[in-house]
Amino acid sequence: MTAAPTPSTSNFLRTIIERDLADGRYAGKLWAGRPGPASVQQEGKVDTARIRTRFPPEPNGYLHIGHAKSICINFGLALDYQGACHLRFDDTNPEKEEDEYVRAIIEAVQWLGFDWKYDNEENLYFASDYFGFMYEFARALIKSGDAYVDEQSPEQMRETRGTLTEKGTDSPWRNRPVEESLLRFEEMKAGKHPDGAMALRAKIDMGSPNMNMRDPVIYRIRHAAHHRTGNDWCIYPMYTWAHPVEDALERITHSFCTLEFEDQRPFYEWTLEKLADLGHLQRPLPQQIEFARLNLSYVVTSKRKLLELVRGGHVAGWDDPRMPTLAGLRRRGYTPASIRLFCERLGVSKADSRIDYSVLEQALRDDLDPKAERRVAVLDPLKLVITNYPEGQSEICSAPRNPHDPDAGRREFPFSRELWIEKDDFREDPPKKYFRLFPGNMVRLKYGYVVRCTGCVKDADGNVVEVHAEYLPDTKSGTPGADSVRVKGNITWVSVEHAVAAEVRLYDRLFTDPHPDSGDKNFLDAINPDSFQTIQAWIEPGIQAVPENYWQFERLGYFVADRHDSTVERPVFNRSTTLRDTWVK
Ligand code: ATP
Ligand code: MG
Repeated sequence: MTAAPTPSTSNFLRTIIERDLADGRYAGKLWAGRPGPASVQQEGKVDTARIRTRFPPEPNGYLHIGHAKSICINFGLALDYQGACHLRFDDTNPEKEEDEYVRAIIEAVQWLGFDWKYDNEENLYFASDYFGFMYEFARALIKSGDAYVDEQSPEQMRETRGTLTEKGTDSPWRNRPVEESLLRFEEMKAGKHPDGAMALRAKIDMGSPNMNMRDPVIYRIRHAAHHRTGNDWCIYPMYTWAHPVEDALERITHSFCTLEFEDQRPFYEWTLEKLADLGHLQRPLPQQIEFARLNLSYVVTSKRKLLELVRGGHVAGWDDPRMPTLAGLRRRGYTPASIRLFCERLGVSKADSRIDYSVLEQALRDDLDPKAERRVAVLDPLKLVITNYPEGQSEICSAPRNPHDPDAGRREFPFSRELWIEKDDFREDPPKKYFRLFPGNMVRLKYGYVVRCTGCVKDADGNVVEVHAEYLPDTKSGTPGADSVRVKGNITWVSVEHAVAAEVRLYDRLFTDPHPDSGDKNFLDAINPDSFQTIQAWIEPGIQAVPENYWQFERLGYFVADRHDSTVERPVFNRSTTLRDTWVK
């Protein structure tokens, strides 16, 4: 693994791991170097990985910021405790899964700075590779009397399941002979029955207070092609049964999942204990531990809803810079370190909460402030003419690349008679406490001279099209006379002749509602119609418009060249986030 979130704030997951290590709960655990049932693992060596975790996405969409939390937890803890973390594609549901998503997920995990290597192992797995084992295990449960083929319709099964206050009722097929269930299960596999005609159920307890223990379905018929196994199978295991099996085959020690699986834990344990007793799974067995999922304000974190945004054309794709996908955040200009920092600040808890979007933005600022180089840009240009500066002349000004990092050195850019400034930095009739340009006032052109505003030129409609000023020759920044004149305002500028033209894309939140999908709201109703704006801007010369160079445009925010659309000839920059701006007074 290549990167770690800075470890060590304690949390209950660490407490559990440390307790297990102290108790030797997994000491001596055998590992054959590859996933497999007890027959394979028995022949293995004592696992040198002190813990094994896994990140198990279903390849049915791109990863989002919620997944980043799970990635940082699973890969981060494995790294901190000299363990291994597997990347496992949980692809047991044929209809929605695609190779495109597999590739995107691999790219996102690597981009975040993690990998699945441990010693010489490449711990990248697909649950679909275990279909053969799962089929055998299901047969074993039938033979031991712990599962049966139920020929009720899905509706009948639902109706007889009972409610939270009422017990369920046993299926008429529940006590059918083992041989009959085995035969039917074989027929299911052989494609002899249509979808929904029957299903394999665990035989547990229809009267259990936990609804998930009322004979849950473990295999169903689905005549559908799978992205990896094609048409080899027309029966597929249910996620809740497949998941513990996958964990055990991979010899996972700590299976971290989100809180909604808490009620599934008894079934997780039932499955593992049964299959271990039957000799199919090697002990010690994995344990499931739940933590609270990440909810972010102004964001939806559900692959299904994100897919709706893409399919409905509400965004330009999975990596639209407004999307909370890792691909979108990357394109927007988020750094892997900023996302790891965000996840570290979230901590881990058992209580659901909603994090404000600004926490994510602040993590990016905190990551970039010490390292991003500064440049000047003018987003809403107005021409400033220095009337006492000779035409055709220019001179070099210099500024730190990063004021927090003197070692980064300085950059240089020209000053000349005609400059672009922000429209907002001039007012003909200034409000109170306005310290920037207005007739008669003096300001410093940052890194350049102090100028005194002498007036402006307007068009026929009365719009200001040009501002005039005179410079004070002895006041250049960095020269002894720089402090001879005191001014309250300090504005940024670029030389008209030298500035680089660029497209700049400004983004706002994708939703106007902080909780776009809470209750029975339709999140599509809360889409912000003004979440995207594109403008033509002028940028300090010499900028390298290449992706993954992160810039702070002074006073304006953090920007990055767009990964898809920016070229050296036609730079395109995305604003990643604004500055917490104390500049404009
Ligand atoms: P989605 O509804 O977006 O598809 P999911 O939980 O079904 O989410 P999976 O692909 O199954 O998506 O998720 C892989 C892992 O990421 C799981 O262990 C899951 O618990 C975790 N995860 C998903 N969303 C979040 C979240 N918002 N916060 C923390 N962990 C999450
Ligand atoms: Mg899912």
